[in-house]
Amino acid sequence: MSQSQSNAILASLSAGDASTLRPHLKPVNLPQKTILYEAGDTIKSVYFPMSAVISLVVTLETGETTEAAMVGKDGAVGAASALDGKMAMSRAIVQLGGEAMVCDAAIFKSAAMQSEHLISLVMRHEQTLFAQAQQSTACMANHEVDARLCRWMLRARDLSGSDNLPFTQEFLAEMLGVRRTSVTTVAHTLQSAGMIKYSRGKIQILDVEGLQETACECYQTVKDQYRQLLGDNGSETR
Ligand SMILES: [Zn+2]
Repeated sequence: MSQSQSNAILASLSAGDASTLRPHLKPVNLPQKTILYEAGDTIKSVYFPMSAVISLVVTLETGETTEAAMVGKDGAVGAASALDGKMAMSRAIVQLGGEAMVCDAAIFKSAAMQSEHLISLVMRHEQTLFAQAQQSTACMANHEVDARLCRWMLRARDLSGSDNLPFTQEFLAEMLGVRRTSVTTVAHTLQSAGMIKYSRGKIQILDVEGLQETACECYQTVKDQYRQLLGDNGSETR
């Protein structure tokens, strides 16, 4: 029974919390582009992605969308909202289809109310998520599209565990909050540099080091924040 090991939050539960939640965790397959909830929706389920990758996006009245955070096997979707307000603050959309574990929000809440360890984990996760959203704001205001696209592809790669990312340019433009033509130009440049191979609706990552060099600092910053969240009992070097 190692289902929980594929999601870092579930894997870091105390033995007591794990045994409380385990009977209520159900595996679910989330197809790409499924909307888990819209902003303002009541949260009925908490998702713990394993191979699925979820984007939390902000949608404007004019229809433009921009991603605030990307959540995958190192996080959870809806965990903090399940505790009180129960209301989604942004749209949660499946960016890369895959597996997740899902738990009824009311059951998750009652488990958390009985466990200081679990409450603390949820709060630390929420802070990490907030930090990621703040980083996205700074990134969008200050970093070039090519650096942001590299940051974005590297995180998607880390969370999905795959070098093949099925993204259309339109979807990438939506996530980055830029024009599609900007994505086309940048994808072409990265392809010419041998870092990616881009064909219709598919990106293949060829040169991870090259992407890391081109990516802005935000990639590593967010990665470090998640590493701290899930820090392995002080064995962290920095
Ligand atoms: Zn950045």
